[in-house]
Parts: sequence; structure tokens; C-alpha cells
Amino acid sequence: MNNPSDCQTADQPAVDPASVPVFAFDNSYARLPEQFYARVLPTPVSEPGLLRLNRPLAEQLGLDPAALSNPAGAAIFAGNLIPEGAEPIAMAYAGHQYAQFVPSLGDGRAILLGELIDRDGVRRDIHLKGAGRTPFSRMGDGRAVLGPVLREYLLGEAMAALGIPTTRALAMVATGEEVYRERIEIGALLVRVAAGHVRVGTFEYFARRGNSEAVKTLADYVIQRQYPDCAEAEQPYQALLEQVVKRQAELIAQWMLVGFIHGVMNTDNVAISGETIDYGPCAFMDTFHPQTVYSSIDRYGRYAWDQQPSIGYWNLTQLANCLLPLLGDDADGAKQTARAALDHYGKAFETRYYGGLRTKIGLLDARTGDDELALDLLGRMAAQQADFTNTFRALSEVDAEDPATDAKVRALFADPAAFDQWALQWRERLATQTQPDCERQATMRAVNPAYIPRNHRVQQAIDAANHGDLAPLDRLLEVVSKPFEEHPECAAYQQPPGPDEVVERTFCGT
Ligand code: AMP
Ligand code: MG
Repeated sequence: MNNPSDCQTADQPAVDPASVPVFAFDNSYARLPEQFYARVLPTPVSEPGLLRLNRPLAEQLGLDPAALSNPAGAAIFAGNLIPEGAEPIAMAYAGHQYAQFVPSLGDGRAILLGELIDRDGVRRDIHLKGAGRTPFSRMGDGRAVLGPVLREYLLGEAMAALGIPTTRALAMVATGEEVYRERIEIGALLVRVAAGHVRVGTFEYFARRGNSEAVKTLADYVIQRQYPDCAEAEQPYQALLEQVVKRQAELIAQWMLVGFIHGVMNTDNVAISGETIDYGPCAFMDTFHPQTVYSSIDRYGRYAWDQQPSIGYWNLTQLANCLLPLLGDDADGAKQTARAALDHYGKAFETRYYGGLRTKIGLLDARTGDDELALDLLGRMAAQQADFTNTFRALSEVDAEDPATDAKVRALFADPAAFDQWALQWRERLATQTQPDCERQATMRAVNPAYIPRNHRVQQAIDAANHGDLAPLDRLLEVVSKPFEEHPECAAYQQPPGPDEVVERTFCGT
């Protein structure tokens, strides 16, 4: 699938070579057999303009932020200039979308420029999302638009600041071109950084074609790159499946604990690295309700908040199916091995989720009845339309011995008596802890964010950006980049949306 004729080549404009940022590319995916990708150059855009650069991330990647801020930096990020050492490719993958198998998806609008080794020795992909058509574009235009690019930038950075594994945003650039969606939109690209772009769907692409050799090559690749310990295991592929299962379980538990709803947990959006990937119609919940859905296309709530753990398991089952040929020569034995690896999911999820819930309510060790106590609170929050983030944050501030300090948290419940009843049991439990109360509060404040990128704020930042104003984005980015540090002047960012600000649905924005 080399340089297909329908893909344009990037023009190399005359730029002063001294001003071109240097990327120390060290590419590994492009060394895999040609069936894993298509070599394709980004399609140049008319007017590249750097909108935002993530300077700390650039430095972490060994890049020079000053050089990236030059026009040559924007030209590289827009795909107009191919830096030395880059080997642009569109990765092949398949995927189950809403449980329907699609045998060929692939990077239809994203191009992997190359890989860098960051300051911690981690190999990271530099990926241009919105770089033009590829052989996987099908009917699509290969482009991305400002709103969804901004959403992905913001939510990825917020997720990272919350300490949850995620792809990152290195830069956001404008293309100077119009893109046709439901209406005319502003063209943009996201420069995405990931510890790896191999997805469950990448394995499915080869497994469904009966290409066990390629499945093995891919498994060996991810073991070497992301799971080196598995190479030492007696059964490396079984160990790999176990590790991926555990990481995914822990990732989803962490989403649940901050009220995050991914929105499109299709297998092509599940990264083997265990990073959150492909921020589409995703959102953090305001009012807690377990069945909350934001995606406009998720009509039956398949990817609702409370469905995420079981969907995660379903997705991993698809991965396990792909790996069967590597798990043993005898089919029954391979299935048993796969099942045993998948069995790690429940334990890994529960340990992380219930451990996280306990900390969220300030329990510093685990006792019988703690899980029920936490679930009881969630049940009351849902029944009383309490704000997810603010309830846990406000709970972090109350005094274990003084119910008079409960005013703020009580007020979040439609019927505050529902909280009072729960708080009686909670205080009884807190009384069994020997640590000073300030320690319990500090522990809670370190896991219960004061700020999340609330959906209405994200929407306001998008609306303003569409009118040329990036100031709301910058303010929101600053606030969510330090989510656990409360500042009185940022109080407005803790507020849930007013009735006229509620965003009920978010769109894929493809
Ligand atoms: P996503 O919804 O972004 O996860 O994308 C699902 C699939 O559709 C992937 O194969 C994408 O590459 C492809 N896709 C999404 N939007 C476009 C577009 N505008 N042009 C070409 N392919 C696209
Ligand atoms: Mg995707």
C-alpha cells in the first residue's frame, strides 16, 4: 500500500533550514511489514497557523519549543513540511463499532509522522490528526475541525493532570481552510502524542483475515515496545493479554472515579498501551446519574457511565479472540488460557474502583462494609441529583466530628436529609480511624478534583474559538491543569451549568 496515487504529496516550501525544528525520530512501526500501514504524505494546507503549543510536553519530547513556534513548526504540524527522519504512515486497523465488525477502518484522517524517545526513555508517537486523505479515508475528507480538536486537546490535558493515562496534545494548528460538516467549520489539526497507537482493532484487522503470522508480529511488537516484562514470562502472549486486561480495567476504573464518559468505546478506540484515546463525544458528568450518556449517536446508552466496565470487558474479549492462535496449539487449551487471562479483569477493576471510592470518601484502610457505604452514597447522589465532582470535593472539607460543617455538601442534595442519613454512618466509620482528620481531608483533596473540564465550559471555549477567541480555552486549560488546587478566583469553574448552559449531547465531529 505504498504512496497510493489518490494521495497528494506534501510540497516542501522554501524555508531557512536553520529555523526548522529538529526531531530525533527513531521509528519502529514503519519497520514492520508493509501490510501494517500505508506510506502516505500529509496533504498540505493553505495557511498553517499554530494555535497552541504544549511547551512542557515539547520539552519532555526533547523538542525545542522556540523552534516549534516558528512558521516552520506550524508547517510541520500542519503536514506542509516533512521534517528529516519522519516516515509518515497511516496505520491499518479494523474494529467493532457499536458491536458491528468493520474489517477495514485504519487512519482515515491521521498520519503517524514518526516516533521520538522522550526524556524518560519512553517511545512516543507523533501523530497528525486531520492531515488529509489516506487509503483508509473511505468517504471521509481526511480533515478535522477546530471544535473537536480543541475538545481533544483540553480533555487530554485535563485527564493527564488528573493522573489518568491518556494520549496528550502537543499542538493545535489551523489550516486556513473550510471544512464541510453539518455546516462550514474551521479546519484544524491536532498533534497527538501517544505511547502507542496500536489498538484492539489493529489485532482484529489481521485476525479476521486469518493472518496469524501478522498477529504474532504485532504482539511481539507491543511486547517489545510497551510490555517488555512479558518477554521474560513463560508464556509471553498470555502475559501480554493479562497485562493489557489489567491496564484497561484500571483505566476504566479511573474514568469512573472522576465521572468521565468516553462515549465511543469501540475496539478501534481502545489502545493497547492502556491510554485513554480518541476523545470524541466524551464528557465529565455534572449531575450524577449512572446511566448518563452524552454522545448524540449512542441512542441506547451502550457506552453510558455505568456500562463502561462491562464494555471494557467485551472489548478485551475481542482482543483475546485475536490472540487465540498464540495462546496454544490446542484450541480448547488456548480458550482456557484466554479465559484465565480475562478473569483478571474483574479483580483489577474492583481493586482499583473500590479502592478509589474508599479514598474518595476518606477511608484510609479497607474494612468490611466500606464498599457498601460508598455505593450507598452514590445511590443517594443519583436519587438526589447531586453534582458528582462537587459532592466529593465538598465532602473533603467537612469536619469528621462536626456535622455543622456539612452545609456545602448537604446543599448539593435535592433533599439534604438523604445526605444527613448517610453522614451518620460515615462519621461512625471515620471515628474508627486513628489518623488526624486533617490527614483524611488532605488525602481526599488529592483524589477529589475541584475542577474538571465541565461540558458547558468546553462548549463555551469551542464557541469562542470559532469566533477567533482562544482566551476561554486558555483560562479553562489553566484551571484544569491543576485540578486539585483550589483557588477562590476560579470558583466559577466549579459551578455546574445553569439551566440555559446545559449541554445534553456532544457530537463525534468527524
Ligand atoms: P473516530 O470516530 O474518529 O474514532 O474514527 C473512526 C474511523 O473513521 C477511523 O477509521 C477514522 O480514521 C475514520 N474517520 C473519521 N473521520 C474521518 C474523516 N473526516 N475522513 C476520513 N476518515 C475519517
Ligand atoms: Mg477512533
